Amino acid sequence: MILTINTGSSTIKYQLFSHDLERVLARGIVSRIGEEGSYIVHAARGKEVRHVIPVRSHREAFELAIQYLLHPVYGAISDVGEIEAVGHRAVHGADAFMASTLITDAVLDKMAELAPLAPLHNPPNLIGMREGLRLLPNVPHVAVFDTAFHQTMPPRAYMYALPYRFYEEHRIRRYGFHGTSCRYVSHQAAEVLRRPLEELNSVVCHLGNGVTITAVKGGQSVDTSIGFATFSGVMMGTRAGDIDPGLVFHFSRELGISLEEYERIVYYESGLLGISGVGNDMRVITEAAEQGNERAQLAMDMFAYMIKKYVGAYAAAMGGINCLIFTAGIGENSPPIRRMVCEDMAFLGIQLDPECNEEAVGGREMVISPPGAACSVVVIPTNEEKMIAIDTRRLASRQPA
Ligand code: ADP
Repeated sequence: MILTINTGSSTIKYQLFSHDLERVLARGIVSRIGEEGSYIVHAARGKEVRHVIPVRSHREAFELAIQYLLHPVYGAISDVGEIEAVGHRAVHGADAFMASTLITDAVLDKMAELAPLAPLHNPPNLIGMREGLRLLPNVPHVAVFDTAFHQTMPPRAYMYALPYRFYEEHRIRRYGFHGTSCRYVSHQAAEVLRRPLEELNSVVCHLGNGVTITAVKGGQSVDTSIGFATFSGVMMGTRAGDIDPGLVFHFSRELGISLEEYERIVYYESGLLGISGVGNDMRVITEAAEQGNERAQLAMDMFAYMIKKYVGAYAAAMGGINCLIFTAGIGENSPPIRRMVCEDMAFLGIQLDPECNEEAVGGREMVISPPGAACSVVVIPTNEEKMIAIDTRRLASRQPA
């Protein structure tokens, strides 16, 4: 069995896969680690339990997860020896990690060195890895980096036109995120379309709370909308996305808004929330727009328009597009947004079958373009954990016994 671990600053999420990776035997999340009211939600054997339990540290959270996996009633294993390998989600591998890797002391040291690039994510990821190694020392542990998939981007796509020394001395460049999701859905799209991955020029629209658009040519990322921070590209739930970087000077000099305040505004008060005024949840925004709320309608229009522009740009970057992939919360569940993105895109061969588009909700994997369309449009539910489990099993099987 393969265990996947995703450690955040106050959460640990886990999933236990069967060896063939066909079944999830258990899944859970320990939340509010180190805070008041910490709790675990754990599901296995068709039952879900939610228990409020004090959890002071990530170490305790990890131990708790293992206890639940071993539990005689809620558990899925009778001995930790049944876990053959552990896969850890790792957010930032910068240019040091081109692919998933077995975790060694050198890997941990390198990740610690990269922490300033992802101060919110890498430190908890590292804690998760260290605790995992301590609790399950006899099995291979694998790190699967969110940035690794985008390491195939050419310099013309990943460089920023800043003085070159910032790249050389401070590693300032586009890295890209959501790579694990992107890799999974691009492979899955090739399966669904029964076409070799090498033939596909895909644009992947990962539309969740975070939004990334990625150009995937023959299975390799060649450009992506999120850059150094998790900010650029299409507007997101509460993040502004592409705005004029010069605004920061105007906010500071003319409006007297501090840098900290500006950061809060563009990260937490902007995007779908900032425009609609009704929330950052696309369901709420869509409902408000249907009832005639003009700002909610504007938020949807802007969101779809920004995605459309990236699709056009990336079709140009790849010399054409023959596959458009929608994934994550909004991509998998919002027929109106998919319709708006694909409207008037026939010049790129992009068309929708309206009925299929309506049907593709709630985690369904579906082709939603009409048969014979030059560009296939597909909805693929993302599954980062499965991708992590696939890499983990592959790398673990190469380990000398
Ligand atoms: P995260 O990036 O946090 O993993 P998700 O992929 O879960 O986010 O996506 C969250 C987004 O998906 C929210 O904006 C939510 O409104 C949207 N979403 C979920 N279900 C639906 C739905 N049925 N219709 C429209 N949007 C939905």
